[in-house]
Parts: sequence; structure tokens; C-alpha cells
Amino acid sequence: MHTDARKLPNQSVITGDICIVGAGAAGISIALDWMNSDYNVVLLEGGGFDYDDKVQELYNGKTSGQKYFPLKSARLHYFGGTTGHWAGMCSPMDDLDFKIREWVPNSGWPISKKDLDPYYAKAQETLQLGPYKYDYEYWDKELPDLNPFPFKKEVVWNKMWQFSVAHFGKEYKNPIVKSGQIHLYTYANAIDLRLDSTKKHITEIEVANHSGKRHIVKAKHFIMACGTIQNTRMLLASNTQMPQGIGNQNDLVGRYFQEHLEVASAELWLPKNFPTNLYSWTYGETKASAELAITERTQREHKMLNGTASLEPLRIAKHAKPRMETWQDNDPRKSSENMFANWREAEKLGKKETGNIERAYALITRIEQAPNPNSRVTLGTEKDSLGVPRANLHWELTPLDKYSVRKMYQILGQQAGLSEIGRIRLNDFLRDENDHTFPDSTNGGWHHMGTTRMSDDPKKGVVDANCKVHGISNLFIAGAACFPTSGAPNPTLTLTALSLRLSDHVKGLV
Ligand SMILES: Cc1cc2nc3c(=O)[nH]c(=O)nc-3n(C[C@H](O)[C@H](O)[C@H](O)COP(=O)(O)OP(=O)(O)OC[C@H]3O[C@@H](n4cnc5c(N)ncnc54)[C@H](O)[C@@H]3O)c2cc1C
Repeated sequence: MHTDARKLPNQSVITGDICIVGAGAAGISIALDWMNSDYNVVLLEGGGFDYDDKVQELYNGKTSGQKYFPLKSARLHYFGGTTGHWAGMCSPMDDLDFKIREWVPNSGWPISKKDLDPYYAKAQETLQLGPYKYDYEYWDKELPDLNPFPFKKEVVWNKMWQFSVAHFGKEYKNPIVKSGQIHLYTYANAIDLRLDSTKKHITEIEVANHSGKRHIVKAKHFIMACGTIQNTRMLLASNTQMPQGIGNQNDLVGRYFQEHLEVASAELWLPKNFPTNLYSWTYGETKASAELAITERTQREHKMLNGTASLEPLRIAKHAKPRMETWQDNDPRKSSENMFANWREAEKLGKKETGNIERAYALITRIEQAPNPNSRVTLGTEKDSLGVPRANLHWELTPLDKYSVRKMYQILGQQAGLSEIGRIRLNDFLRDENDHTFPDSTNGGWHHMGTTRMSDDPKKGVVDANCKVHGISNLFIAGAACFPTSGAPNPTLTLTALSLRLSDHVKGLV
């Protein structure tokens, strides 16, 4: 079922067994999981089925610290959420990502990779990926002519990726609109979460839109699935009954914001031709490809963060501007156009490059950011057009981040030399070991994580191992905001798996 909330009579009361707020990757995955249940599911989406700039403007906010994308264009505010233009790169986190690592402050999840494995397998289906197989040996049998670099297996491994072309808005609009169990309300922006007199139970959520109408939604359980920054903003902005915001009794909501650092870091020069098809992919065509990753043993030895390196032909990469430069328009459609136009231009110029450079690759880092309490989302003083204080982002990196990027290429450089496949040259920003800063050209991946981190201890986390907000009996957070640490891979496969696990948990409660 579908209702445009602008067309409802003002002050309508909507009821359901569960209420999911936000119809992006997390919210839609959960809704689909309830499709054949006996329960009434209310799915609230702030936007419509298409881009609407007045709704997108609700995402505007200020940034400070490490240079970032404009907040308005760093996500999409309509049905399907940011998958409307995501790249679809998927890989699960590693066992190590869930463990406490004594050299990474605030690391460790209250669940292990094994707890997520069955949900990863299910998430593969939601994301329309292949089998839940990410070991090189499996793909070596499936795909022809994979040639891994002959690096020492104890030091470097091939982390495999699969590629989704699913845009949730397109794929799942019809099944949801036609469903008898799920009632989707578009133009239903949650603006306030309200508690009962004990302040331990959410009773209702107020929603609003630009037609001037406001409605109330009542349910037994509420799942916030608005994306990391927006989930955080909603908890902080619902402050009439709890002045510090909901779930924020220990001043943790909004802290530990993490991104993936995606930055051109080194060059790999090969003296002889070496087939690199294992390390390259084409959108819509490649089933699986690999990035170079450092083994757990070596990470422990060097006390470094978990990351990977991907290869891009240097003749093209040298002409490509960092996306932190091309993605600076407030309109996400224009930023996307600018980025692709620059890539097309780089490809054109790259075709003219000849000589040794044809066997050279830019090495692009993808690495977790160490959890940092000062990297955070807060409320601004300005309000949006629906009266909700805007979110501000202060993105802050630490010396461990810089050390880990540099160390990764020192290790890969040694392996390239020892195996005699080539030489690695560090980019200038990594040369000075005493410089802990990152240049403005450092890209994020538009991956927002960590601001309602998971911990069994309410003094260390906002949600528990079931993604329930500590101290509130019926409020859950779905999405990457719950990640205590972010691993190297892009977050959507993991956040979908975690959302499906949360969905199962809530099924046991209704
Ligand atoms: C250019 C780009 C490329 C990317 N590529 C990849 C990739 O290759 N791999 C990967 O894993 N990830 C990628 N990502 C990130 C990926 O898109 C996100 O991780 C994912 O979409 C997050 O899912 P989500 O459901 O938590 O949030 P979203 O997808 O952002 O969905 C949130 C939903 O909530 C709605 N909403 C927000 N506020 C409210 C409110 N108050 N009331 C009601 N509804 C609300 C929004 O309209 C939206 O529909 C990319 C992102 C971008 C921008």
C-alpha cells in the first residue's frame, strides 16, 4: 500500500505494529523481510519516488575539520535512499574487524563475524549479488584467467568484491506498493520522537511535510533507518522531554563519526607486462574482483588499521581530479555529473599516454578510520524548513590513520620488490613520517558510520548488540551508525546484514 502523506487530512493518526523510518537500503531491507508476515508495517519515507530539491534541502548542514562533501549532496533524500546513485561495491568485513585490537582505541563489536554470516548470505539476495562467497579460491574456479600477484600469503591476501547494480528505489517500489502488509507513506518526514512519562518507551513519532500537514504515527516498535547522520540528528533533535536528546545520557550520540579514506596513495610500476584483470572491474559486467589487503598477522605485527589497495591505470588516474574536488556542488545530481565528466576527460587524455606508463598503476587506498570521539555530528543553531535543527559534521582524523596508510604501502612495496614484479613509489603526502595530516584532496566514500555505536555497555555505546537504544525499550537503529569500527569494505552489505539481523530480533518481540 502507498499513501502520499501530503494528501491525508491534517493531524491524521497512523498506526502499525512496527514503524520503520526511512526507505533506503536499511529500511527497505527490513520492510521486505516482513512482507509475508501477519503484522502491519508502517514505512515512513521523507521524500517521494523521485528527487525533490525542497526535500533534499532538509539534508543541508555545515562541515568542519577535514574537508568533506557538502552534506546536502552526500546522500539522497527520496524512496530508495542513497542507493539511487551508489556504485554497488560489496564485500563483507573480516573476522578481525569485530575483535578488540589493543592498538585501535575503542575497537571491538559485541557480536562476531559468525553472528552476521547468515545475514550476510541473506543480504546478498536483497542486494542481488552472487553467492555469499568471498574467498579467492572459489572465484579462481569460477572465473577465467585470474592472476594474483605472487606476494607472500602470510603478508598480503586478495580481498574479493562483488558488484550490485540494484537501486532499491527502482527494484523495490512495486513489491512494496503492492504489499498488503507494508504501508508506505511518502512525504512523511519524521521530525520528533516522543516518549511516555517513564521516558523509557517511544509512544509516537510526529511527521511533517511541505504541504504544512503534520501527522502522528503510533506503533509497538520503532526502527530508525534514515542513514547515519539523519538517525543521529533525529535522536539529538527529539529533545523536548530529554534535553540532551534520546539515548544520549552518556554524551555518545553523534560521536565516533567514521568514513572510509579513499585516497590515491602510491604508484606501482611493472617492468614487464603482468595481467591485472583480477584487480579491475567494469560496472554491470564484472562478477568479482580483488583488492590487495594486509593479513591479520601483519596488521597485528605493525599495529595498523585494516585497509585495501585497488589498482587504476596510472595513465588515466594521473588526469583524474580527486572526487573531493569534483563533488562539491550542493545538488547531488550536479556533483555526480561533474565527477563523471572529469573521469571521462581523464580517460580521453589517458589514451594519449604511451610508453612505460602503460604498465603503471595508481594504488588507491580504502581504509577504516580509527574511532575518534571528536569526529562527530552535532546539531546546528539553524533550523530546516520543517523546523528541525540542522546537522553539522566535524570530520577529524588521527595519526593512526596516516601511519596505517603509509605502512600499507611500505609493506606492499617490500612485497613488490621481493617478488620482483615491480616497484612502488609513495605519493608525496606520505613521505614525511612526522606529518600526520591528510591533504584536502583526501576522499571519503560517502560512507557515514559510527555515530550510534554498538556496545553492551551503555557508557560505551548508544545501542546494544541488537541495535536497541540503551534505556529505551522499543527504539532501534538500523544502519551503519551502529558500527563501532568500520572495516575496510564499503558499508552497505554489512549494514543490510545487520538490519536483517535486527529485523529477526524484532520479529521475536511483536
Ligand atoms: C556516490 C555514492 C556511491 C556509493 N557507493 C557505494 C558502494 O559502492 N558500496 C557501498 O556499500 N556503499 C556505497 N555508497 C553508500 C551507500 O549508498 C549507503 O551506505 C547506503 O545507501 C546507506 O543506506 P541507509 O539505508 O542507511 O541510508 P540511505 O540509503 O541514505 O536511506 C535513508 C532513507 O531515509 C529517508 N529519510 C531520511 N530522513 C528521514 C526522516 N526524517 N523521515 C523519514 N525518512 C527519512 C531518506 O529519504 C532515505 O530514503 C555510496 C554512496 C554514494 C553517495
